[in-house]
Amino acid sequence: MKSPIFITFLGTGTSQGIPVIGSDHPVCLSKNPKDKRLRVSVLLQWDDFNYVIDCGPDFRTQMLLNNIKHLDAVLLTHDHSDHTAGIDDIRPFCFRQGGDVTFYAEQNVYNALYKRFEYIFVTENKYPGAPTIKEELIENLTPFNIGGKKVTPIRAMHNVLPVLGYRVGGFTYLTDVKTISDSEIEKIKGTKVLVVNALREEPHVSHLTLSEALELIEIVKPEKAYLTHISHWLGFHDEVEARLPENVHLAYDGLKIEV
Ligand SMILES: [Zn+2]
Ligand SMILES: [Zn+2]
Repeated sequence: MKSPIFITFLGTGTSQGIPVIGSDHPVCLSKNPKDKRLRVSVLLQWDDFNYVIDCGPDFRTQMLLNNIKHLDAVLLTHDHSDHTAGIDDIRPFCFRQGGDVTFYAEQNVYNALYKRFEYIFVTENKYPGAPTIKEELIENLTPFNIGGKKVTPIRAMHNVLPVLGYRVGGFTYLTDVKTISDSEIEKIKGTKVLVVNALREEPHVSHLTLSEALELIEIVKPEKAYLTHISHWLGFHDEVEARLPENVHLAYDGLKIEV
């Protein structure tokens, strides 16, 4: 019997988070904690392992709020800042664990990080306090193992940018998806829980809208689906939640589920 996966939604907001700085939009002014959304990330825990998918600008806050004392690896979906800008804040884990924090990503993502975080990846005269990363390369969507569980990378497109989703057992996490091929959808079928991005109702060039996300959920037919990477334009949490199909929910920061 494989151990269950305990999932915590660390952040469920789109790139600017909610509230948006300076915004007077009613959702940004909402007093409901479910309308406050940090940038997207999830924590996956089983046995004594802690993994996060993405490491955005709210990573430090998310680690503190959830009292995370060690980190086994970071799985990256793509290089956009709302998914990677928190990399410098892995330093406490490097210091506590006495070495590298492992990352899993594709080559194009590392190439972007080499430019953006040159000081982390330089080999000569590296600043002694800089983060230390062990690079695990995901190639050709080849599955890999973490903590005794198989992880299957799922290819999706974020407009023209290829991104990765991840399936671990009965849990599949897709974010920043606009399109996904039928063959990749086949890899997700049978998943118990599907997390997928749903930005807002109006069309967007690189993100699924609410209705597009619901169409994908209808094709995959998971037992339950959770929507993430949410913009304030989608509306108040409670109002949107009330009109979703029975097996579909809006994720919110701090939501915990078990698969
Ligand atoms: Zn994003
Ligand atoms: Zn993105």
